[in-house]
Amino acid sequence: MSVFRMTTTTLRNLFGGPVTRRYPARVKEPHHAARTRGHIHINIEACIFCSACSKRCPTDAITVSKTEKVWEIDRLRCCTCNACVEVCPRKCLDMAVSYTLPTVTKDHDVFKQPPKPPKPESPTE
Ligand code: SF4
Ligand code: SF4
Repeated sequence: MSVFRMTTTTLRNLFGGPVTRRYPARVKEPHHAARTRGHIHINIEACIFCSACSKRCPTDAITVSKTEKVWEIDRLRCCTCNACVEVCPRKCLDMAVSYTLPTVTKDHDVFKQPPKPPKPESPTE
């Protein structure tokens, strides 16, 4: 690096202010929303609890319970590779553009499918 470039960089860093933001108070909108991988979002109502996403996940971030009808994700493990989105047969996973809020706990995000409403009785003749 030339002395001129180094001096320019040093002065810019000295007087330019921080390059980081006070997230989440200040949020930067993504430049390329279509290509941004923020976080996994699930439409839990469409999930059939087949575990295909859990088996494909390279970081074991997803846990599925068919009996409990529960789908969980450990967001600290997720590397936003999109593999679960691609393998889901019901297309109920997608990559939301926004980022999750910071947290001080290591809790999983747990989604439980609400019970289906009873089918209406057919009218008796
Ligand atoms: S692959 Fe899709 S349908 Fe199957 S458990 Fe995962 S989210 Fe649910
Ligand atoms: S995006 Fe990748 S790492 Fe994250 S939950 Fe899906 S398969 Fe696992």
